[in-house]
Amino acid sequence: MITALIAPSFCRRHMVAPWHPDHPRRLNAIERQLARHGVSQHLQHFDARAAKPEHLLLAHDAGYLGFLSDATPDDAPIALDDETFVTKDSWQAARIAAGAVVKGVNQLCRQQADNVFCAIRPPGHHAEHQRGMGFCLINNAAIAARYAITHWGLKRILIVDIDAHQCNGTLDILGNDPRVLICSMFQQGIYPASSTPPPSNSINMALAPHTTGREASLRLEADCRHAIERHRPELVIMSAGFDGHREDGMTDLDFETQDFRALTQQCLDIAARFSDGRLLSVLEGGYHLESLGPSVEAHVQALAGLGEGLR
Ligand SMILES: [Zn+2]
Repeated sequence: MITALIAPSFCRRHMVAPWHPDHPRRLNAIERQLARHGVSQHLQHFDARAAKPEHLLLAHDAGYLGFLSDATPDDAPIALDDETFVTKDSWQAARIAAGAVVKGVNQLCRQQADNVFCAIRPPGHHAEHQRGMGFCLINNAAIAARYAITHWGLKRILIVDIDAHQCNGTLDILGNDPRVLICSMFQQGIYPASSTPPPSNSINMALAPHTTGREASLRLEADCRHAIERHRPELVIMSAGFDGHREDGMTDLDFETQDFRALTQQCLDIAARFSDGRLLSVLEGGYHLESLGPSVEAHVQALAGLGEGLR
């Protein structure tokens, strides 16, 4: 089993402010935790280069990309909304994050890795075709799906989004594209609280506050199993957000650390059954550093086929 970890150091350079939840400390916490118990040494480590313009255009409007590339301020961050900012290095960091998922798809399709985890930021799943929002500038999961289709000729992709917020951006970009099935779990009623009816190629699993990880796993099985069996995905992409952890103050879900292992294993089982095991995981949210690190560790242990007892 080869698990690739694509963790470009430049993704730390997107830095809004010390108070902002999406802070470079997130990647430091993940790196430290993966090293702490030896998980790191079981992974193949990679950096990434910036995605090419044609890859960004797979998901985004040329005008919006032009705005981002011009909006690299020397001093004050530019606000896209009251929590999403473009700073001096944001454009380059976001392009490198997108480059990481392109590289990951290449590794999977060349059979250089069995699965891949991209430890990247800014996150992506709120970024829509024409606008960034919710800390997100470029939609990495959407680019990965479209790139696998256009560059590698894959016909059917599955995106499983386990972040505690709905992936409005992924739905905006890939909604009604029958080549992609989007299964999205999220806490009902919180940001982005979209009122748009779910597109035909998506399954929304709105979870009540205090839903446990076990309940979320059962919901994934109950709501999505038949659609996934019909879709027969050739690649599974996880939008891996960890803000459903009970310690994460961003949401009111009650996932425990090891629930992320179970959710990951469910996605691995789908990949094993339909996709020759190919699974690309893309970091989305997760803002409580003390639970983010261990949750990502549980996720990566599952990807790498490592026992829980590896300490
Ligand atoms: Zn989130």
